[in-house]
Amino acid sequence: MAIREIRTMGDEVLTKTCKEVKMMTPRMAILIEDMLDTMYEAQGVGLAAPQVGVLRRIVVIDVGEGPIILINPEILETSGEQTGDEGCLSVPGKAGCVTRPNYVKVKALDENMEEIVYEGEGLLARAFCHEIDHLDGHLYVEKVEGEIHDVTYEDEEMEEE
Ligand code: ZN
Repeated sequence: MAIREIRTMGDEVLTKTCKEVKMMTPRMAILIEDMLDTMYEAQGVGLAAPQVGVLRRIVVIDVGEGPIILINPEILETSGEQTGDEGCLSVPGKAGCVTRPNYVKVKALDENMEEIVYEGEGLLARAFCHEIDHLDGHLYVEKVEGEIHDVTYEDEEMEEE
């Protein structure tokens, strides 16, 4: 297990489309462990593989309810709307207002390559959308309403995804 370097906006790797994972390999399992370590170390609530420079469709999320690992995730269903500040470990110290669905149902494979379905509301729904966007080379900054602003002291508790 190891902490990997988090790529930041401007790095080309964040603009690419990631490839599907066809099978679990020891190398892929280590990547997932490292992604979790890296996310927790950076105090984020989510991390996508391209953020550590790997163009594979893998996401890890923990909104405080334990780790979720998504391999080849697909959004099946969304509903509702939420508008609020969003951050990203690849855009450090910044946040911006983004509208996302308030409910998201996701299908993915887990670390054993078994199909799993998650339903998320609120922050978890936001994290699903944000992280899956990374797999297609998109950053939340493309969706910000108004200005991207510096995270101020009062916002310090805000989750970075
Ligand atoms: Zn992000």
